[in-house]
Amino acid sequence: MPMDSPRPRNVVALAGGIGGSRFLRGLLAYLNDEPHQDRPQQADSDAPAVTVIGNTGDDIWIHGLRVCPDLDTVMYTLGGGISEERGWGREAETFTVKEELAEYGVEPTWFGLGDRDIATHLVRTQSLAAGFALSEVTAALCERWQPGVRLLPMSDDRAETHVLVDDPSGATTATGEPARIAMHFQQWWIQYRASLPAHGFPIVGIDQAKPAPGVVEAIAAADLIILPPSNPVVSIGTILAVPGIREALVAASAPIVGLSPIIGQAPVRGMADACLTAIGVPTSASGVAGHYGARSRGGLLDGWLVESSDADQVEAIIELGIACRAVPLLMSSVAATAAMAQTAIELVQTNR
Ligand code: GDP
Ligand code: CA
Repeated sequence: MPMDSPRPRNVVALAGGIGGSRFLRGLLAYLNDEPHQDRPQQADSDAPAVTVIGNTGDDIWIHGLRVCPDLDTVMYTLGGGISEERGWGREAETFTVKEELAEYGVEPTWFGLGDRDIATHLVRTQSLAAGFALSEVTAALCERWQPGVRLLPMSDDRAETHVLVDDPSGATTATGEPARIAMHFQQWWIQYRASLPAHGFPIVGIDQAKPAPGVVEAIAAADLIILPPSNPVVSIGTILAVPGIREALVAASAPIVGLSPIIGQAPVRGMADACLTAIGVPTSASGVAGHYGARSRGGLLDGWLVESSDADQVEAIIELGIACRAVPLLMSSVAATAAMAQTAIELVQTNR
């Protein structure tokens, strides 16, 4: 193994749900593992601090409960409570409440509300009703899960991603055009499996949303910022849309490195291609790199990792002004993901 470069001490990562949390598990394994060669072994209290800025654009009210799917996926994954099989929700989950609700014929029926998971939503909803901010509630929930990161919602304010689609009922306007409606992102994603062509992703409330307390400060104090292979449009894109967050990233002294969520012409899991197509970004590693843009040219990225099989795109990405390497990017195990994190960090440490 080559000489380790110094590991960062203050890391900020933006994250959606499944892709973000799987990456974070590998990142923590790398940061907290093996002592450095260039400094004495550190006590636990001196382990690198990782702040995760989580996407809350997917949040939704379901049956009177406030549900934050991406925050919970990060919390459960890092806290050891996730269903490894599904990648979301709790392990050993049952769905009795969901079945009972369906018996009453109440909508929506498409959201996967598990019995164990409901306890989290009850605590959150009650605490929000008592006047606590989402960031405070999230910190309280994390007391139980001990995710090993500081998990911050992107904002305490409600900012919910919607999707502009042609009305699936087939309704038309007076001139005979398909009528456009905005549906909640979760409905488009889960009920329609992103199959209705999207015309855009308006985020209701985003203009008034402020970064949650600590978000801008964490970005300014970071010595390394990572964009995991989360959905560039409805996970990372939503976080970047909170007024003040993109600006804080552009102004940060830390390098920003990202990992491609696209391998070949497809997202590894999920339907991110439908989101990229809707905003006119090619579904490719270089397409996403170009969408984020080079730091040196007003964009975000100092470095970008693409999959080994996409090595032919490295040159084009370097020409955009972004340091780039092709390495294995399948998060097939924690060890494989830790290696991705290490390479990403070293890419921007050696290129600065
Ligand atoms: P979500 O909120 O649950 O959709 O999760 P994220 O937005 O955090 O991440 C979803 C994205 O992760 C997907 O669009 C995929 O492109 C990406 N992804 C999932 N698994 C892998 C993997 O093994 N390798 C890479 N490079 N990307 C992955
Ligand atoms: Ca999500």
